[in-house]
Amino acid sequence: MPRNIKATYANGTRSFDGKPGKAYWQNRGKYDMTITVTPETRMVTGTETIQYTNNSKDTLAGLVIRFVNNVHKTESPRANYVSKDFLTTGLVITSFTVNGTKYEVNAKNWGTVGGVKLKSPLLPGQTAAVNIDWNYPLSKEGERDGQVDSTTFYAAYAYPRISVYDDYNGWDFLPHLGRNEFYNDFNDYKLAVKAPKDYVVWATGDLLNPDEVLQPAVSAKLKKSYVSDEVTSIATSQEMKAGKITQQKAWNTWRFTANNITDVTFALSNHYAWDAGSVVVDAKANRRTSVQSAYNEKAKDFPHAVEWSKAALAWFSNNLPGVPYPFSKMTAFQGYADMEYPMMVNDTSTPDLPFSQFVMNHEIAHTWFPFYMGINETDFPFMDEGWATTLEYFIGTAQQGKEAAENMYKEFRVKRWILDPSAEEDQPIITQGTQISGSGYGNNAYVKPSLAYMGLKDMLGDEGFNKALHEYMERWNGKHPIPWDFFFSINDASKQDLNWYWNNWFFSNNYIDLAIEKVSIKGNKYTVDIKNIGGFAVPVDMKITYADGKEERVHKTPVVWKANQKQTTVEINAKGKIQSIVIDGGIFMDAKPADNSWKI
Ligand SMILES: [Zn+2]
Repeated sequence: MPRNIKATYANGTRSFDGKPGKAYWQNRGKYDMTITVTPETRMVTGTETIQYTNNSKDTLAGLVIRFVNNVHKTESPRANYVSKDFLTTGLVITSFTVNGTKYEVNAKNWGTVGGVKLKSPLLPGQTAAVNIDWNYPLSKEGERDGQVDSTTFYAAYAYPRISVYDDYNGWDFLPHLGRNEFYNDFNDYKLAVKAPKDYVVWATGDLLNPDEVLQPAVSAKLKKSYVSDEVTSIATSQEMKAGKITQQKAWNTWRFTANNITDVTFALSNHYAWDAGSVVVDAKANRRTSVQSAYNEKAKDFPHAVEWSKAALAWFSNNLPGVPYPFSKMTAFQGYADMEYPMMVNDTSTPDLPFSQFVMNHEIAHTWFPFYMGINETDFPFMDEGWATTLEYFIGTAQQGKEAAENMYKEFRVKRWILDPSAEEDQPIITQGTQISGSGYGNNAYVKPSLAYMGLKDMLGDEGFNKALHEYMERWNGKHPIPWDFFFSINDASKQDLNWYWNNWFFSNNYIDLAIEKVSIKGNKYTVDIKNIGGFAVPVDMKITYADGKEERVHKTPVVWKANQKQTTVEINAKGKIQSIVIDGGIFMDAKPADNSWKI
């Protein structure tokens, strides 16, 4: 445990039983924003008021402002090579006041974070009203944000926000480099987006004024979709182009609201098709969620997006994680990101329908991790990507069958890691996300922790696993858990000291490589000595083939490594003469399968 983390347990903001500490706090903002997008110039112009409350015990001498979109600014540090069309001139702040006092803030030399020294400090318990006017250009090349086509835009990270101030890092000053993801406070948002005539705006949050921005019949169709199981076309590309969808004013102001959420984002187009439906996500409360999609009509996959999103929301709500979808809406938007945003996903269109659904499932799974759980994705990407990868496997099993889901998981996830012996692949999962790059970053975020969570499920059993996971989720939803809060919560809820397992998977350079060392035979008793060369505490799965051709499977959970993580022994009471024994871990793929078998 690093020193800054130890201090939070000593100070009582966190607790060794895994619950939020008695002194736990987090800061909060209420954002009221009006943002105008001018398609011809790609300019975004905004004005916002942030009521920011300091719930910490510290006096804040300044504010840290985060504008992720400055990753496009030529001078900003970045993790990857970018094209010229990715680059922009970045953020310009035209007005900045705190509690009515004017500040001369020049964002000219800011990267994705900038500091503003306060003229009078923000004391514990105080709220400051921060007013910011700003503008920036959307990038021509769209990825997580920017232009999708000449009249379609995805405006993410579109507003300056107050960076997180927390109990283990203080202010989050880490620059956004384009690889790592995000860490935001839970805020309340009012968002007004001004867009020209014939542009529809899709956004995080509930649309408050459909009658003001849509023509009456279109507004009626949209409202009907909120209570219907059917998938309806709200607008075709043709209708959009013919001016039959939006109110025919020069500009329309689309008003949205979303509370207790870590971000808001929006998209606009004057020719995208728009579908909508809804699905019950909480049967007990009979609560429905609106499900919408926005796409280029040429796409093969997106006409299925509402149906797929509905299926994903229902499955995740009722199975794993088995927590009802927490929001009132989900919109699947066609862009180039393959990225999650609260209540929205922005995915690339592909002609491979099962693959498109696979990606959509993954991005929708992120609703629970990081958004419901307030994960610091920048520092601890395995706390969200590892879960999304696990959930993607289980929903894939339900939808495509076990074999297809296993193949996908092995080919797309496991092989990229386990077959590459480079040192960067085997850095400990706990390594801060900002301190790791290349394929080591991705594998530490996605597949290694996913396998750790799957091994945990195997060890605790489905019921025990669900109980422990729910306990962790209930304790920390809407808060900012760190890895130790997860480890301690699972220990506490399962009433087991699993520190050996956490150390084995999250704090080691381990990988997966088992070997059969020796098989001793005494009558019908076969004793298999297994060496753990790679070190990870994986389940042991053996295929036994008898002399008469019959087969048998032997399964041991990772608990076999609890006492000795280097070596274990499995005893088989054979039903006859054994011909061969092969260790086949399935998705727990072995780096060197050649030494996994024994023959008489
Ligand atoms: Zn992901």
